[in-house]
Amino acid sequence: MAGPAPSVRRRQPAGYWTNWGGNQRCAPEEISRPTTLGQLTAAVKAAAAGGQVVKAVGSGHSFTDVACTSGVQVRLDGYDRIVDIDRERMQVTVQSGVTIAALSEALAGAGLAMPNLGDIGYQSISGAISTGTHGTGAKLCGLAHQVSALELVSGDGSVVSASAEEEPEIFAAARLGLGAMGILSSVTLQCVPAFRLKAEEKAMRVDDVLAGIDELVEGNDHFEFYWVPHTGWALTKSNNRTDEPVGGRSRAREWYEQVFLENVAFGAVCRVGRMRPHWIPRLATAVPSTGTRRYVARSDKVFTSPRMVRFCEMEYSLPREHLATALNRLRQFIEDAGLMVSFPVEVRVAAPDDIPLSTSYGRQSCYIAIHMYRGMPYDQYFRGAEAIFAALEGRPHWGKLHYQTAATLAPRYPKWDEFQAARRRVDPDGRFANAYTDRVLGPI
Ligand SMILES: Cc1cc2nc3c(=O)[nH]c(=O)nc-3n(C[C@H](O)[C@H](O)[C@H](O)COP(=O)(O)OP(=O)(O)OC[C@H]3O[C@@H](n4cnc5c(N)ncnc54)[C@H](O)[C@@H]3O)c2cc1C
Repeated sequence: MAGPAPSVRRRQPAGYWTNWGGNQRCAPEEISRPTTLGQLTAAVKAAAAGGQVVKAVGSGHSFTDVACTSGVQVRLDGYDRIVDIDRERMQVTVQSGVTIAALSEALAGAGLAMPNLGDIGYQSISGAISTGTHGTGAKLCGLAHQVSALELVSGDGSVVSASAEEEPEIFAAARLGLGAMGILSSVTLQCVPAFRLKAEEKAMRVDDVLAGIDELVEGNDHFEFYWVPHTGWALTKSNNRTDEPVGGRSRAREWYEQVFLENVAFGAVCRVGRMRPHWIPRLATAVPSTGTRRYVARSDKVFTSPRMVRFCEMEYSLPREHLATALNRLRQFIEDAGLMVSFPVEVRVAAPDDIPLSTSYGRQSCYIAIHMYRGMPYDQYFRGAEAIFAALEGRPHWGKLHYQTAATLAPRYPKWDEFQAARRRVDPDGRFANAYTDRVLGPI
């Protein structure tokens, strides 16, 4: 369960693991750092023999306690090789700990790319797919949808291979399994030929964005916007495939925009807002509302950017037709409750998929993400927003803060029982359970 806002600087006792957001920590009994499949299976077998629970951890970029454990923590940062690139089938097989940034570099070298990505490249591929990480694009699904085969270490330490043809029920569940389906040792991803994106970033009135949302979403390969609380402005980003050469933004300009403006200057504004919350509405008006930025770059360089300002986040998936209603209710709630919010609200879209625990399962979806700067209280904001989203058939992102339980989540996922049946097959003893899976999936 999401706790109170973490203090800004808290010294961690030795042996504690902390996530990127600084709002979750755990003290594993043991840490295992496998570099081979043999070491990985041995770690799970030893835990099974000793009656310990086990949890893989990727890059720790989830805001929930999804990656926490009191038992054996399996760190996969040294289990990160590119195993094979099949140029003909455009498929790549990787060890599960590889980061999205390293994967993207390797693919670029082979003339391939992931069709879509989220907004950072720091996550491990297995952490990203396990929580339903997604980017934006009305015709594009989340990252788990790119998985065409996988290999996982089950509760007794045995290795299971799964794909649409082999063990299809396990495949369906383990593509997005919250770490509860075992430890993925490798995944094979379906890629596309490398491509470049032309990015166009400009401010628009948020009411105009909402009035024209269908054209904006359907008329661009990837469209998203950030509504700036306490203002009527939204910063829009439209990314489209192009044959134009890379250009339009020098390295110095890229550093100025991505590092200085979006991180250093924004971080300073957040710090001032944390000290003087009532200044936040005035500070928000400093967000530029004129000018258009245009540039062309390799796809992954456009999708992802550095994130240095730490925060806590909640994100909900909703049927896309509820986008404007949900955002307008959120705007009203922030105003009525007198909340001071320095972080923009991010809105994205995705295509439906057929993965049992996917937040986009079976429906055209929009995603609304709300953030609070690290060290600022978020409970009232997140609970109020969750009530709005839940009333509109919302499904929370598995890696971002929410207050739901298995009882409230099960009715939102038509294939809930299929997931649970597959989970019982690979982990009958609850070896991969933790407090989070107990809460959101229920005990095994
Ligand atoms: C700055 C920032 C930006 C983000 N941007 C986006 C975004 O654009 N879109 C989006 O959807 N999300 C986004 N997220 C959320 C993030 O993508 C997810 O939380 C993701 O799970 C993080 O990956 P990780 O490697 O850090 O996983 P962790 O947080 O370390 O682990 C997540 C889960 O994956 C499991 N896991 C890890 N490795 C394995 C394995 N080998 N086998 C089985 N289970 C495993 C863990 O046990 C845990 O249950 C963002 C988060 C941050 C902090």
